[in-house]
Amino acid sequence: MSGRSNRGVFGKLFSKKQQNKEDRVTEIGMPTNVKRHIHVSKNSETGMLEGLPSPWLRVLNAQITPAEQNENPDAAIKAVIFHMYRMEREKALDEPFKPFVTPEVITKEDMEMKKLVDHKNAHQSQDSDLSIGQSSEEDSGPIDRLPQRQTMPAAPIKHGLKKKDAQMDLSAVLEDLTLIGEPEESPIMRKKEINSTLTDEEVYEELRRICNKDDPYVRFERVKDLGAGASGVVFIAIDSNDNSRVAIKDIDLTKQSKKELILNEINVLKDFNHKNLVNFLDAFLSFDHLWVAMELLDGGSLTDVVTEVIMKEGQIAAVCRETLQAISFLHSKGTIHRDIKSDNVLLGMDGSVKVTDFGFCANIVGDEKRQTMVGTPYWMAPEVVTRKQYGKKVDIWSLGIMAIEMIEGEPPYMKETPLRALYLIAAVGRPKIPRWENLSANFQDFLDKCLQVDVDMRATADELLEHPFLECAMELKTLTPLIRAAQKILHKNYE
Ligand code: ATP
Ligand code: MG
Repeated sequence: MSGRSNRGVFGKLFSKKQQNKEDRVTEIGMPTNVKRHIHVSKNSETGMLEGLPSPWLRVLNAQITPAEQNENPDAAIKAVIFHMYRMEREKALDEPFKPFVTPEVITKEDMEMKKLVDHKNAHQSQDSDLSIGQSSEEDSGPIDRLPQRQTMPAAPIKHGLKKKDAQMDLSAVLEDLTLIGEPEESPIMRKKEINSTLTDEEVYEELRRICNKDDPYVRFERVKDLGAGASGVVFIAIDSNDNSRVAIKDIDLTKQSKKELILNEINVLKDFNHKNLVNFLDAFLSFDHLWVAMELLDGGSLTDVVTEVIMKEGQIAAVCRETLQAISFLHSKGTIHRDIKSDNVLLGMDGSVKVTDFGFCANIVGDEKRQTMVGTPYWMAPEVVTRKQYGKKVDIWSLGIMAIEMIEGEPPYMKETPLRALYLIAAVGRPKIPRWENLSANFQDFLDKCLQVDVDMRATADELLEHPFLECAMELKTLTPLIRAAQKILHKNYE
């Protein structure tokens, strides 16, 4: 697959008329529902943005050109705040699981971001020669482009050295948040998300109660490792009860700092059953290891298919329909997936399509493989960066980006650094869609409805399930030859 050129996008950016740019002063209110605002302005003499912590400005200036900052200062500022917040959070918080994303979680993040900027600005002197949350490379020199498609943290992260600083900063922010009370019209934060309430022993006791009592080492025969994620190893196993093949995620509990969140997750996952989700089967506890048994999807991820073979529109429509059914289900349960992308869509050899990583997604403290808290930026909706009207419809935007992956093999801006991608998402809005003129009118309209920057104009999952584009969906079994071809090229097999 060819890489995507951004010349068109940049051309548009640079050619757009810039009115009054010399004396433009931008005041950014962020997050939108907190009373006090962050004051960011542009110095008319230096042309530089002011009001952000200076290490952050250095990161911004290293990656976003002055012309781009001029063109869309709001996007530049919001991109850097969001990026730095993610970096800080990644380093400072030992969150074992991606939380089920609800409006409360989003409000909490908005407040943390606001407080983090305030805190950093108030402690400028301590930070001034440190780029906390950022590697020194990113601080000064040019940034290498990502070599190829892969899920990776937002920037090379150096664990250890500066982690303590970041930890102190964000901890101070989090503690502060419990004291300042609630912003207007925002829900009460659950304190347990900040402080542990159960001891490890209590957690183990509860885990023993809710887990299956069988000894997993006796019941399962480990057949083949599938890969290692942030949480540990995933492997294929044969269940001696019925000879079925399952996927098991082995989580080392000694590496989980907030073990009690695991309890919530297991309890919630037991309720999340849908034909288009990689369903949770059972959990087992053996000493310090939690084994989470899931349905095995032996066709690999949709990423393998999109990067290796060309899909027909009818096949794309089929995958979109199945994914939408999963999204609609999650939305009906009041949760947002927030990380819809081809890597999180797994396929069965029969062509079944199932969404994974919808909550049970652990992170190991200090592990090099740790992913960013909400994944890579390329699939993110503009409002995730700008924090305006952020809700369920972020999943619909991501589905639109995933459709572009199915057309082109990769999402827009894949060759840009994560911060630049965030800026471009916020500044450009709807990305240019490759081979647009070759797409059917129905597919074009479907993409139009997914990739609306205006959240109110963007369709819901249920509306899209009625879209005429899905009428051209081919049978799921037509995906099987694509899966086989991709597996052959990638030398993967699930036997
Ligand atoms: P993250 O930790 O962010 O989720 P990841 O998805 O790479 O990263 P895991 O979820 O631990 O890590 O999965 C490891 C590997 O196992 C991946 O290649 C994934 O596609 C594969 N995998 C996970 N669950 C299943 C499953 N139920 N069936 C088949 N393969 C799976
Ligand atoms: Mg995963």
